[in-house]
Amino acid sequence: MKGLIPEDKIAEVLHSASIVEVISDYVSLAKVGRNYTGLCPFHSEKTPSFTVSAEKQIFYCFGCGVGGNVFSFLMRYHNISFPEAVSDLAKRYGVIISTQRMSPEEKRKFQQKDHILGINRQASEYFHNFLAVAPEGKSGRQYLEKRGLSQEVIERFAIGYVDGSWNRLLRFFSEKKVSSGLVERAGLIVKKSQGYYDRFRSRIIFPIFDVRKKIIGFGGRVLDNGLPKYLNSPDTPVYDKSRSLYGIHVARSSCRSSGSVFVVEGYFDLLALSCHDIHNCVATLGTSLTREHVRMLKGLAGTAILVFDSDNAGIKAAQRSLPLFTEEKMDVRILILPDGHDPDTFVFQQGREAFLKLSGESLGSIPFLISYFIAKYGVSIDGKARIVDALKISIGALSDGVKRSLYIRELSERLNIEESVVLEQIRKATSRNYGKITTLNRKGGIVNDYMLEKGILQMMVQNPSILSAVIEEGIVAEFENPVLKNIGQLILQLFQDTSDVTVADIIAGIDDPEYRSLMSSLFLDEQAWERQNCLRRIEQFRHAVDKRKARLLSQRIKEAQEANDQELLSDLLREKNHKTRSSYERKRLEGC
Ligand SMILES: [Zn+2]
Repeated sequence: MKGLIPEDKIAEVLHSASIVEVISDYVSLAKVGRNYTGLCPFHSEKTPSFTVSAEKQIFYCFGCGVGGNVFSFLMRYHNISFPEAVSDLAKRYGVIISTQRMSPEEKRKFQQKDHILGINRQASEYFHNFLAVAPEGKSGRQYLEKRGLSQEVIERFAIGYVDGSWNRLLRFFSEKKVSSGLVERAGLIVKKSQGYYDRFRSRIIFPIFDVRKKIIGFGGRVLDNGLPKYLNSPDTPVYDKSRSLYGIHVARSSCRSSGSVFVVEGYFDLLALSCHDIHNCVATLGTSLTREHVRMLKGLAGTAILVFDSDNAGIKAAQRSLPLFTEEKMDVRILILPDGHDPDTFVFQQGREAFLKLSGESLGSIPFLISYFIAKYGVSIDGKARIVDALKISIGALSDGVKRSLYIRELSERLNIEESVVLEQIRKATSRNYGKITTLNRKGGIVNDYMLEKGILQMMVQNPSILSAVIEEGIVAEFENPVLKNIGQLILQLFQDTSDVTVADIIAGIDDPEYRSLMSSLFLDEQAWERQNCLRRIEQFRHAVDKRKARLLSQRIKEAQEANDQELLSDLLREKNHKTRSSYERKRLEGC
């Protein structure tokens, strides 16, 4: 599909979009010097190494090495294709991409997401109106009133309702001449042997928004005890429940200002908090937390507060999701509500202040786990051993030494065993882990030629005045690494066409994501490449090439000797003599 969007349109989108603005939707960025930094959404980290340059319109993570331009970011973050990333941004920045040259099939594919989003928006308006004014919407209105939702919250979350009819929405869209196949793709109607019927019936409807306030799916709740109590959209081309959080469109700004985000389980939990002016809250949509969710949470706030009911299922769910937070290095606290409460009932009965007070007393993950495992295994000798075993990795992994030793003391006191015994177990468990990390690093060592060639590319883009010398010396042609060679040729070609080349242009010309990342790192690592240094680098490279060639020549001479190929041998020796002489000449000339 890449060829479907004309190059000039791609460039237009690239130049209209602001990478800082786009990435800010997903990562909380702070200005540091000339660049912006934040916590990387692609690997787990506690100190920001994810860097965005507004000037160069690129990003790079010094932690995991991912980088590129604004398209690369969206492709990786949303797991979408290049044309999808281009068309998403084109819409956002008002660049019109013509679909005239596409075949009907290509056109359909290209426009499908758009159509589904449009259908979702219309359906949401339909449900919302039905709740507000339809005579049949009365039971929906009464239900929401009984649940205590204010009109303001109903509007803020565009809540709707639909009665028990089997084809209300179906008729609505067929009157609008929207193809039923497409409405089915949006997950709103279901196919039966003959025709279709509405998926959502007799339900309060919760539109699910993404961070850009587009409606990507729906949730529906029955008014009575019917089953299933909750029904969600199936996964569609625009909706993936493992990557969606309910309420994120409202939560974003207050999460950023408060630094924390409440994670609740249900729609009504979130809406109840919203009724009490607690807006830094998202809900998972009937699934347990996924790694993608945790990465989204990291983009919202520094600390996640998981709010669970005190029943067994809630506590188990909390315990299960903790390793994800540890792995993603995100601070997490657990708030277990008093018996018999969920966030909805608690905040309506006890009020906002009581909820906030309780959240102030929420437990960090280790104290929570200590209590959890004590309850699970008991404090028999066997139980104690299992508890220490279950906790040694989590405690050992804490980077804060003070916290680590305090938790070790807490654990030994609560289990009534010697602190030194606990410490010993943790030390054993972690030293094994440290060993693993070092071997991995050593294996990842990088060869010298590669570094040299990388350095040359860097100086070529940082100081284009050196390009003529690079061309004259035929430097790029001597590159060993084929991909770096291609990039070098691309840079030369771009600068030949125009002197006004932006970094984002160069990156847009590289297909391989790994090398896009590499180039971003070269551009972000700012070194002043003065002319003298550049010339020295070229000289250094030429020496390295000479050495490599000499080595190769010696190798071939040896082979010719072994094969007793006199003719080849004398050719090679002549070549060697010639090389030695010219290198002697060069040194002599450079000497004076
Ligand atoms: Zn990273």
